[in-house]
Amino acid sequence: MTEEDAIQSSVWALNRALDSAGPSEVIIEAARAVPEGRLAVVSSFGAESAVLLKLVADIDRSMPVVFLDTGWLFEETIDYRDALTSFLGLTDVRSFSPSPNSLAKRDPQRDLWSRDADACCGIRKVTPLADALTAFDGWLSGRKRYQGGDRVRLPVVERDGRRLKFNPLARTTQADVEHMFEEANLPRHPLQSKGFSSVGCIPCTSHAATGDDPRAGRWRGLAKTECGIHAPLATQRGNESTRGVDQRDRHDRRNAEAQQT
Ligand code: SF4
Repeated sequence: MTEEDAIQSSVWALNRALDSAGPSEVIIEAARAVPEGRLAVVSSFGAESAVLLKLVADIDRSMPVVFLDTGWLFEETIDYRDALTSFLGLTDVRSFSPSPNSLAKRDPQRDLWSRDADACCGIRKVTPLADALTAFDGWLSGRKRYQGGDRVRLPVVERDGRRLKFNPLARTTQADVEHMFEEANLPRHPLQSKGFSSVGCIPCTSHAATGDDPRAGRWRGLAKTECGIHAPLATQRGNESTRGVDQRDRHDRRNAEAQQT
């Protein structure tokens, strides 16, 4: 059995075992499935990020938290990162930025987002995350099915190249999230009260209208709904999904290597 087959078998077994598990059980099982020190949580410190970070902090406050500072974040998001880190007692929040060389070469006027949003996300999010994750064998994401789009089919466990990727909140409802905010008295992202239900980069974030899905304000006017750090979802048992992840992994590595030369 190849390493890839072994990881895919683990994904199937974990999804079966976690079929009715709650978010905390998923995080605990993730920590068991990945070698010690090789599991991270990736967080945007966005409007709902506090929920997953609270669950992680209750289990292990020293779990590495990977945060991508794209260079286009709202000041409020940076402030919120610091406030929430302190509130939850997280001890290992790591911020990653795009390569200065890459920015100078590909986005010297800071207008790439308006010309080619996929390329902009590539150099400001996808490649920095690929670099950050080289230190890890598994990661946790805060995506949920109720966020709509492709996410409605989100599995609890996925294969991301050679890594395991866990979505502890996949089955969580918006009402659950609200309940957790209130029960734990979690601080809110400062922009939430100004009408932002999902917060990303300044040029690509707008208000979502009542009744819209929570991410409707992201990349408004474009067909784009994801930044690219999450591979397109396909049937977890299908070969197409794993081929797509492998191709993306190779593409990200090539990008990272190209930018280092
Ligand atoms: S969300 Fe917008 S500004 Fe941020 S990296 Fe993607 S295209 Fe660029």
